[in-house]
Amino acid sequence: MPHAEFAASVSAPGGPAIAESVLLTALNRTFGYSSFRPHQREIVEHILAGRDVLAIMPTGGGKSLCYQLPARMAAGTAVVISPLISLMKDQVDSARENNMAAAYLNSSLTGAQASQVYRRLEDGSLDLLYISPERFAMDSFISSLKAARISFFAVDEAHCLSEWGHDFRPDYLSLAAIRRHFPRAPIAAFTATATNAVQQDILAKLTLKNPFQVRASFNRPNLHYEVRPKREVDSQLLAFIREHKDQPGIIYRTTRTAVEKTAAFLDSKGIKSLPYHAGLPQKERETNQEAFSNDEIQVVVATIAFGMGIDKSNVRFVLHADLPKNLEGYYQETGRAGRDSDPSLCVLFYGGGDIPKLRHFLDQIVDEEEKALALRRLNQMADFASRNLCRRRQLLAYFEEEYPEPNCGSCDICTGKAETTDATREAQMALSALVRTGERFGAAHVVDVLVGADTKKVRELGHDQIKTYGAGKHKDKSYWRSLIGEMLGRGLLAMDSGPYPVLKLTEACLPVLQGKEKFEILEMGTRDKPESESKGRSRVSAGAEDIDQELFDRLRALRKTLAQRQAVPPYMIFSDKTLHEMCRHKPVTLSALREISGVGDAKRDRYGIEFVQEIRAHAGAD
Ligand code: ADP
Ligand code: ZN
Repeated sequence: MPHAEFAASVSAPGGPAIAESVLLTALNRTFGYSSFRPHQREIVEHILAGRDVLAIMPTGGGKSLCYQLPARMAAGTAVVISPLISLMKDQVDSARENNMAAAYLNSSLTGAQASQVYRRLEDGSLDLLYISPERFAMDSFISSLKAARISFFAVDEAHCLSEWGHDFRPDYLSLAAIRRHFPRAPIAAFTATATNAVQQDILAKLTLKNPFQVRASFNRPNLHYEVRPKREVDSQLLAFIREHKDQPGIIYRTTRTAVEKTAAFLDSKGIKSLPYHAGLPQKERETNQEAFSNDEIQVVVATIAFGMGIDKSNVRFVLHADLPKNLEGYYQETGRAGRDSDPSLCVLFYGGGDIPKLRHFLDQIVDEEEKALALRRLNQMADFASRNLCRRRQLLAYFEEEYPEPNCGSCDICTGKAETTDATREAQMALSALVRTGERFGAAHVVDVLVGADTKKVRELGHDQIKTYGAGKHKDKSYWRSLIGEMLGRGLLAMDSGPYPVLKLTEACLPVLQGKEKFEILEMGTRDKPESESKGRSRVSAGAEDIDQELFDRLRALRKTLAQRQAVPPYMIFSDKTLHEMCRHKPVTLSALREISGVGDAKRDRYGIEFVQEIRAHAGAD
């Protein structure tokens, strides 16, 4: 229904701005949140002011709210283009949970259901209409839209437009029709894909006009990153899951065979888990995904085919049992943890054996350029895993974002959990070799000098006469290559940009050179100790702060019952974060419950009494 209390129209660009207090009231009543996440307010304001928007925000950044709130506030229907049928249904269910008038149109509807949606579009009673992109190729659909009052268009997962992205969907190209047919309606595009090429493609293909552009930070403060040496990986996974009882999580594996094997292993050990990969029949994939969404199983073991469309907000851990092919993928996959912004764990199990296996995959790429690129990406991924450098800093650097803190406090490097070995002496040798050869050479020659290789270049330059020649014989070339890589990565060395890559010292290497500071590297892959000896219980476990676990379990059980009654996934009723807050504040009245983040008017009215009663009963039982 149209909402008199917020009645606003999408104005012409440059129109009057909406007061912040009005936005906050609408936010609080609709979603139960008391503040906006970064950039949300500006995006909502610009949409309501009639301006195009391009928003790049990480998973869990809160993109849906950016168009759901203005859809709720503005007169007319907001049309949301969404790539997956399953995603649409979830979004509509979740909007309805907050009392928004939402519907979708896609090939899963019967003729009668679709006609009903068209009727509601016509009579203006929809806040939100979700559609799949191929509708824009249908003239009849365009005329229906033209006859309706449209507030704005929102293009979700807009990177699907771009052939540069990883999820290119040819259907999305028909979205160029939006601007042609609806020159005055603002278009807001959203994606979590950060690359510049994709961004430019979106701007061009949707012909966005002077759009308001935001690029949110890709830092996910509630995610804890860790890399552990990989040994008997199935047992390591099992041990991890047992330490995180009842917490939903995703395990990524590279191959379908490995997925099946791990899922069967966990199942045999009593962990409720199901596999997911592209080789399974569509129906089975859907069932397995739903079982995970509905908290019927604890763990889904998957290839990267499990991805877009996973809106489950209470994923408490994402484990990578194999090295991913690149950092972009790793970031997107780990990003599925902790959307509700509660603490969540991302653990990568890494062993030297992964690299040859992945190299084998890469060798099958025919196109040489593509192969070289894939190899470069794989090397970045291996660097991430093996470098003694804050994981968060490395991930963000990949997206060209500089992490401002010296210590993130939430990765194995920054918390000192990762095991390191002292390589100060070796670093000094490398630095000395560089100095003595005049900082005029690339890594290959410096390594030759260090190991005392008998090459023509060494002899001609007389480098077999310098003091560091052969000083590093006790290690092999690959050790020195990776040490130099690490020194570059950590800023002790720099690469001179000229016709030939030349290594130079930087200011930052002086303390190490003078022996005032140690240079430590990770012991990754060289260790042999069983997991239990070297690692205690992971220090940061999801939701580690003291909460009343018994109450949490009760509320979670209640949430599940209600979810079954409403036929929606449990996280749509309330997020884990909201349940945690209830455990902390133990509200026993409806108005106290309404103060909890994530409890808006609609949910208070729909579920409030049952939750308040449960909390009272728990208090009485204490
Ligand atoms: P994205 O689509 O960007 O991955 P979602 O829209 O799914 O992110 O939002 C992630 C989670 O954050 C959801 O559970 C959502 O309800 C919650 N959320 C969004 N905005 C806010 C906010 N302002 N305050 C608190 N929680 C929020
Ligand atoms: Zn860190």
